[in-house]
This record gives sequence, C-alpha cells and structure tokens, in this order.
Amino acid sequence: MAMRLEGKSIFVSAAAQGIGRASAIAFAKEGARVFATDVNADGLVGLRAEFPQIETHALDVLDTSAVNALAATLPDLDGIFNCAGFVHNGTIEAVAEADWDFSFDLNVKSMYRTVKAFLPGLLRRAEASGTASILNMASMASSTKGFPNRLVYGTTKAAVIGFTKAIAADYVTKGVRCNALCPGTVDTPSLRERIAAFPDPVEAEKAFIARQPMGRLATVDDITPMAVYLLSDESQFVSGQALLVDGGVTI
Ligand code: NAD
Repeated sequence: MAMRLEGKSIFVSAAAQGIGRASAIAFAKEGARVFATDVNADGLVGLRAEFPQIETHALDVLDTSAVNALAATLPDLDGIFNCAGFVHNGTIEAVAEADWDFSFDLNVKSMYRTVKAFLPGLLRRAEASGTASILNMASMASSTKGFPNRLVYGTTKAAVIGFTKAIAADYVTKGVRCNALCPGTVDTPSLRERIAAFPDPVEAEKAFIARQPMGRLATVDDITPMAVYLLSDESQFVSGQALLVDGGVTI
C-alpha cells in the first residue's frame, strides 16, 4: 500500500520538540521527504540521530533573511507546516507592548514570512501535481471559545485563522490549500514548563485536565493524524478550515 505522503516534500517549523517534532516524524513515516527546522539547533540533533531520513536545518522564523535563504536552497515543496508559536499567560493587564509584539511576530508574522518564501514553489508543485498544502498552527484558544489568561495568545491564534482563510481564498483556484489546526491542551515540553511555573504545579495540572471533558490531556499522537491528513491528498477538497482536535472542550 502506498504511504500517505509518498513523493511529497514538506517543511516543518518548531520541529525540535512537541507537536512539530512528532509531526515531522509522522510525515517521514508516511513517506514524505521532511525538512525539519527549529531555532534550537541542539534540539534537532536528537531528531536527526533517531530519524536520519529527516533533514534538519536551524531556522529562526523571526528572521526574514534566514527564512528566504533556506527557501532558496530547498526544492519546491508540496507542503508546509507552520508550527512555531508561544503561549503568553495573562490578561490584558499583564500583557506589555513588548509581549504583544513578540507573540504577533512569532505566532503570526512568522507564517507570513514562510508562506511568502515558499509560495512560488508550492504553486509550481500544485500546477504539476494538482494540489499543495499549507497548514498553520492555531489553537482551540481562539477558534470558537475564549480562555482566561490567554489575551495575546488567543488574539494571535484568531489572526492565524484569518490569515489561513485569506490565503485559502486567494489560491483556491491554483491548487494551493491552506488550513489551520486547533488542538486542545497537549502534553508537550512547553506545557510542562508552564505547569511547573505555577505556585502549585500539581493543582495546575489538575486544572488543565479538568477542562478536558475526556479527562486527560492530549498527547502529540492525538494531534499528528490530523496534520498528516491535512498535508495529504486525502484532504484535497478541504481548504480554509480551522480543524479542532480538542478532546471535546468546545462541544
Ligand atoms: P513547544 O512549545 O514545546 O516547542 C516549541 C518549539 O518552537 C521549540 O522547539 C522551540 O525551540 C521552537 N521555537 C521557538 N521559537 C522559535 C523561532 N523563533 N523559530 C523557530 N522555532 C522556534 O511545542 P508545542 O507545545 O507542541 O507547541 C507547538 C505549537 O502548537 C505552538 O504554535 C503552540 O501555540 C501550538 N499549540 C500547543 C498546544 C499545547 O497545549 N501544547 C495547544 C494548542 C496549540
């Protein structure tokens, strides 16, 4: 049986840990040629050691020149997964202008940079094969529901959905699809850091779990099947959507 991403070249940002890393592995296991990138070059070393077929590149998605330089060296891509993002914790009273600007730069503008850089190749691949796919990381925190202490995070992730729909509308007739992925709370290194930063980490973890009606956090393996689907031809009639994988939080 053919693998689901066979013959496809896919870029992933934030691939040194968490959902990005798990997605890069899932894409490779489905036959894709994967370009896994992260600002944390050391974090990519382990990925490359464990999965030598995955090509790794240090990349800071805040750096436009670096994004453009990498795009110039890669082949035309069939898919990109913009996964990089940061969770700022706080209400409007806790969000300084610098926090606001940083979150927008990393969570939203980075996608503008990568899509702009990779779009010519995506269009060529779409013309040749009929479809190419952009996947942007949003969150359940913005899709249909507000969450406390997520002022700038929720705002940026709502912007990701707006960006996704605009790109989808502009390129729907040219074969380039664009969708957003909206996970619930996923057990990743940064979630563990956020839990550890609470005065009572045990209670904080219980509170994260309590808001999940299925009674547990998501694992990265709950999320990657949706990413594989959205980058594969199985989803070739799907564009401009924000797809929730949230364990029923937004039912
Ligand atoms: P994580 O936060 O544990 O890791 C993030 C990775 O991003 C790290 O490897 C880090 O080095 C990299 N990174 C940070 N700044 C970067 C930059 N400037 N350039 C390139 N890479 C950079 O991973 P995660 O928790 O899986 O989160 C990944 C994405 O998923 C984020 O966009 C996040 O908002 C989103 N998300 C996470 C959850 C969750 O509960 N974990 C839920 C919904 C959405």
